[in-house]
Amino acid sequence: MKKILYTIFFLAIIGIVGYLLYEKSISNNPGNTDLNAINPATQQIKAATDRVEKIKITKDSTYGALMATSGVPYKLSVSIYDAAKPVYDLVKIRIGRIIELIRDKDTDEIYELRYKIDTEDELFVSRMATSSVATSSESEYFWQAELRPIPYELRLKTAAGTIKTSLYQAALDNEIDIRAIIDLANAFQWEIDFAMDPRVNDTFKFVYEERYLNNKYIMPGQIFAGRYVNVGKQFDVYYFEESEDNIGFFDVDGNSVQKMFLKAPVAFKYISSGYTTGPRYVGGQYQVFTSSHRAIDYAAAIGTPIRSVGDGTVMSAGWNSQGYGNYISVRHNGTYTTNYAHLSKIYVKYGQKVSQSDVIGTVGSTGFSTGPHLHYEMVKNNVKIHPLREILPPGKPIRDENKERFFAEIKKWQKMLDD
Ligand SMILES: [Zn+2]
Repeated sequence: MKKILYTIFFLAIIGIVGYLLYEKSISNNPGNTDLNAINPATQQIKAATDRVEKIKITKDSTYGALMATSGVPYKLSVSIYDAAKPVYDLVKIRIGRIIELIRDKDTDEIYELRYKIDTEDELFVSRMATSSVATSSESEYFWQAELRPIPYELRLKTAAGTIKTSLYQAALDNEIDIRAIIDLANAFQWEIDFAMDPRVNDTFKFVYEERYLNNKYIMPGQIFAGRYVNVGKQFDVYYFEESEDNIGFFDVDGNSVQKMFLKAPVAFKYISSGYTTGPRYVGGQYQVFTSSHRAIDYAAAIGTPIRSVGDGTVMSAGWNSQGYGNYISVRHNGTYTTNYAHLSKIYVKYGQKVSQSDVIGTVGSTGFSTGPHLHYEMVKNNVKIHPLREILPPGKPIRDENKERFFAEIKKWQKMLDD
């Protein structure tokens, strides 16, 4: 008897909590927005005049729990889940994103679920009639899922700045979206080391698209052209689609900007904030390339990812008792090897093949090191050389038959960069 009472009590509590959560979810909804016409499907059961219930995905919330909280019957939530699965598994929904339930204004029945799975695509799970007669009778509809590209409105934008302390700071000073500056730095990652190369009065300018939805700025899109002037030397990159499998950035002569080595083993997005112009000395512990320190030191927080600057094979990965601490050596070919020292973590093993940009370990302060930094060496024919001074052959050129198209296409970008 006692047991039954406990059970009843327990169920009552669940009911109350459930109801409160439900109420809360309704009051939290940022809005039941009117629909734009969104689904061209002719079998769509309802006209586009209903409302959107927005459910924010919070920490530890699952698809099933969110649906239950919104009062979606279990069977319905499973039907939607099953229909979506071949296209997108709703188990993978991400914190901070939003699930939209499109509900019939009159009956409150759900006839569509929408979820932006990433910055590019949106999942639509729609209730479709099996016959041409519009009905919500269970036997006469089914659920169908598809991914559609998010229909951003694109606006062309030109941004520019002058370096006073760092590229990152210049972006902030000019109110440029930091994501656009990271993309710009990525386009130059084979040419410029943005930790070490920038100098005061360097300038940059670039042309890119901004993505809008309903007149609201969402994020930067494709960069079409970029210019960086480093100590008077001008570097240009132009985006070009030569063919389906050759898309990317090319220099003014039509050579791919991708080279055998990245300029820096630490990506701009990690060294960006707080990094100042030029080589850094902190209590004399971080050094540039000298006759006694034939390496470059990158000051960065412990745990900062380190990437292999080129394709290669791991020749050493482990503890080095000569002072390097946790140490990785990557052999790129018969001529070049790069070494990475004082790491906190090592992600690769001896003999492993790595590709350019693969994260191989993280910044630490192991071995003879007085503070967190990466000690980076480039070895050419057994001699330690200055990695930033090494001149590498240009990347693969655009094929002759496509060059005319390339030069014609970049003309407008060049004009915008020159203006
Ligand atoms: Zn060093």
